[in-house]
Amino acid sequence: MNPTTRSHELFERALQAMPGGVSSPVRAFRAVGGTPLFVDRAEGAHLTDVDGNTYLDFVMSWGPLILGHANPAVVDAVQTQTARGTTYGAPHVGELELAELVRACYPVAERVRFTSSGTEAAQSAIRLARAVTGRSRIVKFDGCYHGHCDAMLVAAGSGAITFGEPSSAGVPPEVAGLTSVCPLDDDDAIRSLMKQCGDEVAVIAIEPVPANNGLLLQRPAFLELLRDLADDHGALLLFDEVISGFRVGPGGAAAHYGIDPDLVAFGKILGGGLPCAAFGGTAEAMAHLAPLGKAYHAGTLSGNPLAMAAGLAQIGALQDGEVHAQLERLGARLQQGVEEVIAAHELPVRMVRLGSLFWFSFSSDEPPRRAADIPASCADVYAKFFHACLARGVHLAPSAYEVGFLSTAHTDDDIDRAVAVFGEALREAHA
Ligand code: PMP
Repeated sequence: MNPTTRSHELFERALQAMPGGVSSPVRAFRAVGGTPLFVDRAEGAHLTDVDGNTYLDFVMSWGPLILGHANPAVVDAVQTQTARGTTYGAPHVGELELAELVRACYPVAERVRFTSSGTEAAQSAIRLARAVTGRSRIVKFDGCYHGHCDAMLVAAGSGAITFGEPSSAGVPPEVAGLTSVCPLDDDDAIRSLMKQCGDEVAVIAIEPVPANNGLLLQRPAFLELLRDLADDHGALLLFDEVISGFRVGPGGAAAHYGIDPDLVAFGKILGGGLPCAAFGGTAEAMAHLAPLGKAYHAGTLSGNPLAMAAGLAQIGALQDGEVHAQLERLGARLQQGVEEVIAAHELPVRMVRLGSLFWFSFSSDEPPRRAADIPASCADVYAKFFHACLARGVHLAPSAYEVGFLSTAHTDDDIDRAVAVFGEALREAHA
């Protein structure tokens, strides 16, 4: 980036005030080089930076904005609520209505508890699973992200699959050792793990649509196997639907695949762009949560009235199926356009898509289902692709492993423009 820009100036200043200049690491552009854009404002499908450049946005704040930036109904709901008070620390109708709406979309979530972030939702769901089962071990999958609680910042151990190792400094090995990490899409690995220690496992946790390490779409049979293994061994099944919830359909991945988990974590879309997440589950499991039961969870801003207002406006808009039909149409248009360019220029790329989630796999091979099958070389090609897009006014996530998000604010013209830009940028990245 040009060092005379206002973004560059602000980033230099931010480096003196915040570690790495950011509030969340991927925003720092380390994976693609250069300095991040400072955003001045956003509306619909577009972001404008502090230098006055406008970009067609496919990051959409990493998923929450299914109706686009500053959607008028969401803005109006938040403004109206703001004048009535921003936080009460007491029950209010907004949280009740949003919990009821979640239940209606997601029948398995018979009871819903709000949190302020997806991390808290996943962490609390895990504590609850441990409380319900009286067991300590957790099973997660390589390539799935469940936020930054200690128990989930774990990588597969070097020897046996059973004992995980910390994937972040500061996570005690004793804590990581209670998490087992399996490869995705590997029936034998999860079967043998559960055979070995299934009676210690409190919960099998998975992103049913893994979207934090590429878009690693799973075989439905693999998800069904997890349901069966959890049942056979008395463990709970947790679907982390922080990304997929309300995005792959109003009933999330659970409805899409027709599989009922015991516990679900929600985030992103649920809060309409405000800090909000939730976890839910069967009435029986959720009865272990304080104040009914002995598993503790609380939050000063849990069920925050502004977040509830934004969530109600956004989730309310998804009820008649129109939004998801429109997103599928836009996604199909994008995919068709990109695939034509890829074929015409024989580019070694595949577009992976589910509804309004998309990802470029930088290989001609079948799209990967496991994190380990993504070639490491994709990072360098992606960095070139990313900057070629940005230079043409299209904003993608600054990492090869992050997915793109469509919203109802994207128009057919936006999609056609994106196809043209992606085509040029793919050719430039492979030149
Ligand atoms: N689970 C999943 C599947 C996520 O994608 C994320 C965030 N990307 C989280 C949990 C954590 O959510 P948050 O960033 O709100 O803590």
